[in-house]
Amino acid sequence: MNKKLRPIIGTCFLGFLLITTFLASGQAQEKGTTLVKKPLKVFVSVDMEGIWGVVHGNQCSADSSEYQLARKWMVEDTNAVITGLFAGGATEVVVNDSHGSMRNIIASELAPRAMLISGSPKPFSMMEGIDSSFQACVFVGYHARAGSAPAILDHTISGAVIYSIKINGIEIPELGINGAIAGYYHVPVVLLTGDTKTGQQAKEILGNEIVAVPVKEAVGRFAARNYPREKVLADLKEGARKAISSLDKFKPYELKSPYQFEVNFHNSQQAEMGLLIPGVKRISPRTLSFSTEDYIEGYKLLRALISLGSAS
Ligand SMILES: [Zn+2]
Repeated sequence: MNKKLRPIIGTCFLGFLLITTFLASGQAQEKGTTLVKKPLKVFVSVDMEGIWGVVHGNQCSADSSEYQLARKWMVEDTNAVITGLFAGGATEVVVNDSHGSMRNIIASELAPRAMLISGSPKPFSMMEGIDSSFQACVFVGYHARAGSAPAILDHTISGAVIYSIKINGIEIPELGINGAIAGYYHVPVVLLTGDTKTGQQAKEILGNEIVAVPVKEAVGRFAARNYPREKVLADLKEGARKAISSLDKFKPYELKSPYQFEVNFHNSQQAEMGLLIPGVKRISPRTLSFSTEDYIEGYKLLRALISLGSAS
């Protein structure tokens, strides 16, 4: 090599190194921005009465021979929703089993990217796990409030104990009671699956924007037209994808403080033990009322009253 050329080659080589290093760092930054996704956490509460194929309480009860099939449908509906949530941009999905014993979903059958909260009792029951780190809340397999028709297995929290529940004067279904817990943490409910009546109530209570995916249409309390399975699974997936990819349009369901609760039991005896709790008043033989400044405190007292009513 010509000695005179060495400094020039050396300079060129140094320049080449600098340029490639610069380009490489630019690419890394570019890659970095695409690789680091903004967290999008979704909370999913799964009940059983509004699952495709379910039309009777026996299917939701562990001591019935029909239960094993229904819990398989439950995880299938849930997995279709989870697939849609991830397709729509979710980065983390937490599923809370929300029916009866809350051990219905077989953990190994749930989509492996999702976390499962299983078992009971839990402080927040059907909403265990929710907090302000989530961007969206989803209700799968939900049902209409007590006194709805035609609606599959309509009830509010406890079919045996509760005739109706009012909060701030509005008769409210489970989807509203639980939706307000999500609202307390400023998390909107973006999707609900269940029968057509439940979807209608979700729009009335939680707002018209909510994506409601009907899986069946009730003929009576224990009979329904179940939509074709293939279509339902596709609708669940697409509904979830659609809801999660347009999060800006949803508002959290936030009730106004103070919260005035009215709990109407099926019979007067179910109301009696609740009177032992300070602050609880009896406004009719079957109805207890109380007021709280904090919604979660009110929700916990509501559950305590229902437990006392069940035990009486
Ligand atoms: Zn249930």
